[in-house]
Amino acid sequence: MARVYNFSAGPAVLPEEVLQEAAAEMMDYQGSGQSVMEMSHRSKVYDNIIKEAEADLRDLLEIPDNYKVLFLQGGASQFFAEVPMNLMKNKKAAYIITGQWAKKAYKEALIYGEAVAVASSEDKTFSYIPDCSDLDIPEDADYVYICENNTIYGTKFKTLPNTKGHLLVSDVSSCFLSEPMDITKYGVVYGGVQKNIGPAGVVIAIIREDLITDDVLPGTPTMLKWKTQADADSLYNTPPCYNIYICGKVFKWIKKMGGLSAMKEHNEKKAKILYDFLDESKMFKGTVVKEDRSLMNVPFVTGDKELDAKFVAEAEKAGFVNLKGHRSVGGMRASIYNAMPVEGVEKLVEFMKKFEKENTK
Ligand SMILES: *Cc1c(COP(=O)(O)O)cnc(C)c1O
Repeated sequence: MARVYNFSAGPAVLPEEVLQEAAAEMMDYQGSGQSVMEMSHRSKVYDNIIKEAEADLRDLLEIPDNYKVLFLQGGASQFFAEVPMNLMKNKKAAYIITGQWAKKAYKEALIYGEAVAVASSEDKTFSYIPDCSDLDIPEDADYVYICENNTIYGTKFKTLPNTKGHLLVSDVSSCFLSEPMDITKYGVVYGGVQKNIGPAGVVIAIIREDLITDDVLPGTPTMLKWKTQADADSLYNTPPCYNIYICGKVFKWIKKMGGLSAMKEHNEKKAKILYDFLDESKMFKGTVVKEDRSLMNVPFVTGDKELDAKFVAEAEKAGFVNLKGHRSVGGMRASIYNAMPVEGVEKLVEFMKKFEKENTK
């Protein structure tokens, strides 16, 4: 079996143990005589799977009782619309634009009301997180929206914005479960799971209970109303059963690894190996401001497009795949999510050193 080191931004690497377990259970899940793909979402055996997944996630993130956990479909992109549909009572919200995903969410909100861009880092290709300590947030804004880890640009909010008493909504798609977080600071935390948790097709939303009401924008589809999903414990219609099952296995894997504090240490260790090398290399350079560097997505360039392309091609041959940067940024990007072993990053750096030596006159 030849497994590669997969640096994809998403869908992304998953723990091998999880894949092996899933393979072992493929034909007969725990004596049920069925694959999880084949069973009714209303069966007792599936009910245990989804309930256990939620319980393990609650444990990991220490989610308070007054927050609901929803397993939804439609990707993070559909959630861009769900946020204003469910929260825009005053038809006004503040958006902090730190990259393409935040900008897409902002544009989606403009369909439903007055979305106000209160800060942006677009002036420097989203290579930093703007100062959000004293923003001009409209009094009657229903919420303040951030994308906490910017997958494409490789920046992360190290301190949350001062929302001045407003509700905080955060897209954590690419940093979900990478480190502990204080859920009580947020009204809504959500993310697509395909970056750091599981197979594409599930969005996990953690929503403070008082925000789940019938008071949604007129025309909101039944399926996109959080109350519909919350009242039915994410089983209003057929959920992405198999994908939720895999997410549940990943939660157990994280617990076994020591939980989110251990995950943070593991991720900091990997990121340090790569960033330290980028800081000392004469050929490769990180593209973002040091203080705002993401632990998960590490973009870098050589400054020469042809050399970038050569690097990506040779890396792939050597078993380091999906290192090409996002089409909007160019260069390279190494996504080093939870399931990327330390060894994968060490070997990548070794390879980069060798490449630098071979390609320096
Ligand atoms: C990938 C990503 C999205 C989009 O996710 P989809 O599930 O493909 O809609 C949104 N936000 C962030 C931060 C992402 O990394």
